[in-house]
Amino acid sequence: MYRSHTCGELRQNHCNETVTLSGWVQKSRDKGFMIWVDLRDRYGITQLMFDEERTPKEMMEKAKTLGREFVIQVTGNVIERVSKNPNLPTGDIEILVTELNILNDSLVPPFTIEDETDGGEDLRMKYRYLDIRRNPVRENLIFRHKVTMAVRNYLSNLDFVEVETPYLIKSTPEGARDFVVPSRMNEGQFYALPQSPQTFKQLLMVGGMDKYFQIVKCFRDEDLRADRQPEFTQIDCEMAFVEQEDILNAFEGLTRHLLKEINNVEIGDFPRMTYDDAMKRYGNDKPDIRFGMEFGELNEVAQHKDFNVFNQAELVVGIAIPEGNSYSRKEIDKLIDWVRRPQVGALGMVYARCNDDGTYKSSVDKFYDQDDLAKWAEKTGAKAGDLICVLSGETNKVRAQLSALRMEVAERKGLRKSNEFAPLWVIDFPLLEWDEDTERYHAMHHPFTSPKPGQIELLDSKPGEVKANAYDLVLNGNEIGGGSIRIHDKETQAIMLRHLGFSEEEAVAQFGFLMDAFQFGAPPHGGLAFGLDRLVSILGGQETIRDFIAFPKNNSGRDVMIDAPSPIDKLQLDELSLALNLKS
Ligand code: ASP
Repeated sequence: MYRSHTCGELRQNHCNETVTLSGWVQKSRDKGFMIWVDLRDRYGITQLMFDEERTPKEMMEKAKTLGREFVIQVTGNVIERVSKNPNLPTGDIEILVTELNILNDSLVPPFTIEDETDGGEDLRMKYRYLDIRRNPVRENLIFRHKVTMAVRNYLSNLDFVEVETPYLIKSTPEGARDFVVPSRMNEGQFYALPQSPQTFKQLLMVGGMDKYFQIVKCFRDEDLRADRQPEFTQIDCEMAFVEQEDILNAFEGLTRHLLKEINNVEIGDFPRMTYDDAMKRYGNDKPDIRFGMEFGELNEVAQHKDFNVFNQAELVVGIAIPEGNSYSRKEIDKLIDWVRRPQVGALGMVYARCNDDGTYKSSVDKFYDQDDLAKWAEKTGAKAGDLICVLSGETNKVRAQLSALRMEVAERKGLRKSNEFAPLWVIDFPLLEWDEDTERYHAMHHPFTSPKPGQIELLDSKPGEVKANAYDLVLNGNEIGGGSIRIHDKETQAIMLRHLGFSEEEAVAQFGFLMDAFQFGAPPHGGLAFGLDRLVSILGGQETIRDFIAFPKNNSGRDVMIDAPSPIDKLQLDELSLALNLKS
């Protein structure tokens, strides 16, 4: 038996018991006549002690050789500590060791295994197994487990069944590139790893499973943006015989349950906002509504003077920064520099100070008088003491820029509080989205999303205006889930694919299996998927998803611990019939 107790378990009432513990040496203090060792495992830390008077000499010598991260087993008596440590749950006691068994020694770890470590990100990733020994990382993994257990219990209680779908599939375009896997047995042919189980979960609905979920890995070969992982986890869900309202209710319920269970916060009905409204009011389809600074559109009150920058703009729009009038000229200039960074891309920023006496002072006083500025204040909701910031330009671009500014200001002002939760549904997404690069419409969600009833006729005349039965769940400015009611008949699916630029042959080659299935009594169905990594990190009050993934990839998509991806043998390439196609 390696242990009778864990290192987090022993208390005053265990005194005089003989116990056996196993764990890692966190640190040892050698006073010559006395040695204290902190023994650590997943559950906590227990202090061991060896002393000249009571410990045999040989064991004393052995104890002196213990280095950091040695794995040891000890047996000893629980005794009351002379100087107690109130910061440690086991701080009332220590173990007077009677047997010491070194199970394994350890190299000196490349960084300290402590809450605040001296190891940089790269080093910690290379030795992730050591990083996992640290409390914050371990706690995050346990936190993730708690969330997934709560999800499984909640959905299972509602009759959802977790079904596994295959990882070796054929490509399902969902907007990203596929990771492909060569097939040895089918020369020149490839599987794709799923970007999501989308088509399979729909086929499960055709199969009568009625309510499905799966906590599942998805793979997308995208250019890596900060805090994106090429493989990530979804809580993937689908239901049959449902309308949008049913889906929203079911998963609002799940989200509310998680917030209560995990964070102990109670949230009433989630607000709902149309996509158009979200774009107009926040310039963003995933608005953070924990704070105000809503957009005020200013075309009417800013395009009647000789200021050409505004007159030529498609949209003039502003926000009021609360108490922003306290910013010095220099601070405002810094804000202007910030919006002009290439990542944001604004050409400039006009501002108006709202003075305490009710007057205004703007950077465009040459063009606008006090009455004009009062109207700007009204539209942006600015009060005395605020600062109105105004951007102008092409509608979509300027909205994105002002949204970036809004989030940045909120961040700087500490308005994005990690322990405050503001979920909302964004609904009525457009079905299609114009893509500048390919000069074509793409499915905004995916090709299986159904248009709103009666709108399919618009596909020919005004494709950009067709709205879909598609929705996103947004939490604190992050999209944590998204889904749609699906097309469930062959004809509509064929029309949809035609509009997305698939020839009939291509449509059959790629989606024939799905359209065939639709001919055998496919029920109306819909669903959504949550991004689990993001959800967990937000509930955990932290920013980066990597902190909640046991073995994440770095920003270049590499696993630096196992060194992947990596070249493979010529022999392996031959077997896969790939060798000939590669330049050596
Ligand atoms: N498969 C979709 C996604 O990965 C979710 C859904 O439509 O249910 O975003």
